[in-house]
Amino acid sequence: MRENVLLIGGGGREHAIARALEDSEADLYACAGNRNPGIARIAAGFETLETTNPKAVVDYAEDVDATIAVIGPEAPLEAGVADELKAAGVYPFGPKEADARIETDKAFQRRFMEEHDIPGCPDFETFDDMEAACDFIDEYDGDLAIKPAGLTGGKGVKVIGDQVTAEEGKEYIRDAGYDRIVLEERLIGEEFTVQAFVANGEFRTAPAVQDHKRAYEGDQGPNTGGMGSYTDATDELPFMTEGDYDEAVSIIEATVDALDDYRGILYGQFMLTTTGPRVVEFNARFGDPEAMNTLPVLETDFLEILTAARNGNAPPELEFASKATVCKYAVPEGYPTDPEAGAKVQVDEESAGDALLYYASVDERDDGIYTTTSRSFALVGVADSISEAEEIAEDALAVAGEDGLRIRHDIGKAGLVQKRIDHMTELRGE
Ligand code: AMP
Repeated sequence: MRENVLLIGGGGREHAIARALEDSEADLYACAGNRNPGIARIAAGFETLETTNPKAVVDYAEDVDATIAVIGPEAPLEAGVADELKAAGVYPFGPKEADARIETDKAFQRRFMEEHDIPGCPDFETFDDMEAACDFIDEYDGDLAIKPAGLTGGKGVKVIGDQVTAEEGKEYIRDAGYDRIVLEERLIGEEFTVQAFVANGEFRTAPAVQDHKRAYEGDQGPNTGGMGSYTDATDELPFMTEGDYDEAVSIIEATVDALDDYRGILYGQFMLTTTGPRVVEFNARFGDPEAMNTLPVLETDFLEILTAARNGNAPPELEFASKATVCKYAVPEGYPTDPEAGAKVQVDEESAGDALLYYASVDERDDGIYTTTSRSFALVGVADSISEAEEIAEDALAVAGEDGLRIRHDIGKAGLVQKRIDHMTELRGE
């Protein structure tokens, strides 16, 4: 039986989801705030609408007789879109609003870990009195990460001792106007992501991915939504052992067990420290860019995962091709602090060669494709090794066109990967 699947969201992550559904027995419809040309080309229908408006999404789902919906970004989850779709008889692959709090409320997330004794939780305190938070910084013996409790697109966190001094941190807390923040122990190590497909109390994990949050080469500059990412041909990354990956999976297992009937993607962001993986955060959806590393190598039919979940079954065992991937984002000049929206993007798709091109937050109009204030498009190389995958992505970027756009060319290059390995070796005192 063919299924009408509605995809919600118009970024690179959603273009990767659309591609994963392209060859399945799904009739794909999509809605997003921007008209993503890559998704619009694959989908049988594409509607531009406010995806945080549950009624608008449900109306469109009903118009196109959707039976299943895949919710890409966090904002519609926070707005309760999954709850409303379910009430309208459309199976949402994405958690209900209450469960999405594991991402949308960082204070809730840390308390949840504490209450359920989930391993890997850093020491933390939550504050709604900003002066009390500043006093805590003065009294605390060590560096702290300052985290607004609500969603900030990955851009609100400031780490003392890394991005800011204690004084700058206090200034940030006083000036930013947040209602609630979390202060937590600064974790030191290398970051990685493990994404799990969760349904009916069971889960299956994908290979570990490393994203690059900082805007500029050499991990400099402000945090972004992610400038690019890589995977290796195995589950783990070059700076990790298989045991580190397994430990991260066991933290995900403890979390899935503690959640009551969670469904969708549970994304664990980990810091590999000298005492093993610790939890930086959980997200309630695929990572962006990480989905563009994971879905191209997923050999299991994505629709089969969705229908298994909908039919009350565990997700099928997942097969991933033993390939490395490197994803590089092209972003508007000035991103993330002062992004130049409304610039025309010239992409020569034909010249992408062996690389996969994913459109992100661009808007297709009658006379061309324009930048928005977020990331524009990504190129992904898939190959036997990270360095070969990196070359494929890089060659494609050179010809695809990067006028008015910025790219972190160092992502996936041997030098940066070696720096990660050396960092872990040094921390472990080997
Ligand atoms: P988040 O929005 O929680 O993913 O945080 C954004 C980025 O801030 C993470 O990817 C880390 O690089 C950094 N970060 C968050 N929490 C911590 C922590 N406790 N220690 C060190 N770095 C952190």
